[in-house]
Amino acid sequence: MILPGATLGVLGGGQLGRMFAMSARSMGYRVASWDPDPNAPARDFSTCHLSTGFEDESAIACFLENVQAITTEFENVPIATLERLSRERIVLPQPHSVGICQDRIREKTFLSRSGFPVPVFHPVLRTADFENLSGSFLFPALLKKSRLGYDGKGQALVQNLPEAVRLFSEWGEVPCILEERVTFLREISVVLGRGRGGEIRYFPLSENIHHQGVLEMSVAPANIGERASEKLRSISGAIAEKMEYTGILAVEYFMLGDDRFLVNELAPRPHNSGHFTLDGCRTSQFEQQVRILCDLPMGETTLVSPVAMGNLMGDLWGKGEPDWSVLLSDPRVKLHLYGKSEARPGRKMGHFTLLGGDAVQALEETRKLLQKLRESRPLPA
Ligand code: AMP
Repeated sequence: MILPGATLGVLGGGQLGRMFAMSARSMGYRVASWDPDPNAPARDFSTCHLSTGFEDESAIACFLENVQAITTEFENVPIATLERLSRERIVLPQPHSVGICQDRIREKTFLSRSGFPVPVFHPVLRTADFENLSGSFLFPALLKKSRLGYDGKGQALVQNLPEAVRLFSEWGEVPCILEERVTFLREISVVLGRGRGGEIRYFPLSENIHHQGVLEMSVAPANIGERASEKLRSISGAIAEKMEYTGILAVEYFMLGDDRFLVNELAPRPHNSGHFTLDGCRTSQFEQQVRILCDLPMGETTLVSPVAMGNLMGDLWGKGEPDWSVLLSDPRVKLHLYGKSEARPGRKMGHFTLLGGDAVQALEETRKLLQKLRESRPLPA
C-alpha cells in the first residue's frame, strides 16, 4: 500500500487530472502533475507542476526522483515515456493498455480480434487501402483519424467513396479508420475499476446524450434493464481482463436494440460520462483511481441517488461569464468548474450534477437548466 504523505504523479493536467489531484490531496497524498501547459487545471491542486513536453529528459528524471506511483489522465502520452517511467515506478494503467487505446486502428483491431462486437471498420494507411473495401461496405460512413481524435474532433461523415478519398488526402494521409455509420437507439457507457489483484468494481451504467459529437449530458442509472446492464458489465470486464488492465477503464457502447451492443470506444482513464460519480456514488471514479494506484481496497460504487450530469461548454461564455445563480439557486445542483481562464467554443469548462427523485426527471431538469443558462443574461464583467 502507498500511504498518505507519498507523492502521486499524473501525466496530463486537464480537468481529469485536476479531479484526480483533488481526490488525492483530500486523502493526504501529495500530487505532482505534468502538462506542457503552465496553466493546466490540475496545477491548482498539485503540490508541484512540471510544464515541459512529455519527452523532456530532465522532467522524466525529476518525476522519477519525486513520485512513488504514476497515473495518466489522457491517452495521448508518449508510450516511450510511460515505459521509461514504468521501469522504475508503478505506472497505472500500464503502458501497453494506453498504447492500445491511443490508436483507433490498434483499439478496434484488438477488440474485433478478441471477439468483442465493434462497428464494421477498415484501417486506412494509404489511398490504395480504399480499393480493398468490401463490396458490402455501406456509405454514409465516418472517417476518423486513428490518433489524437477526441470529442468528435478528427472525424467527419463522408457520403461516398470519392469523398472519403478526398478527405483522407486533405488530412495529409494520416492513418485513419473508415467506419460504418451506426444507427443506434442509445449510447451507454460502463466505467469500471480493476484493481492490482484483478478484482473489478463497476460504477452504475450511464446513458449519454451527445451534441455534435461531444457529450452534453449523462444520466445514471441507465434505463436499459438488468439483463442488458449485466451483459454490458460482462463485456466490459472481459475487455479489461483481456488487456490485463489495471486502473479505471471506460467503455462506450452503441445500443442497437434487442439487447445488441457495439463497442464504440475505450478510454484508459476516468471519463466525462463518469463525472456523475463525484456526487452520485459512494466512491467517485477519481477516488477509485487513487485507491487502485495506491493498492488500497476499491471503494463501494453504489449509487446514492439517481443523478444527471450536464457539461458546461465554452459556448456558454459567448456573451460573458454565465449567470451561475441559475444553477446555484437549486439546492440539488452541485457545480464543478475546472478553473480554465479562457473559454472557447467546444472547450469543456465545467459540469454540474443534479441529484433527483428519478433518472428521467433528473435528466429533464438538467436539460432545462442548460437551456436556462443559455438564455440567461451573463454576469457583468
Ligand atoms: P467518438 O469520438 O468516436 O466516441 O465519437 C463521438 C460521437 O460521435 C459518439 O459518441 C457518437 O455519438 C458519434 N459517432 C461516433 N462514431 C459513430 C458511428 N460509427 N456511427 C454513428 N455515430 C457515431
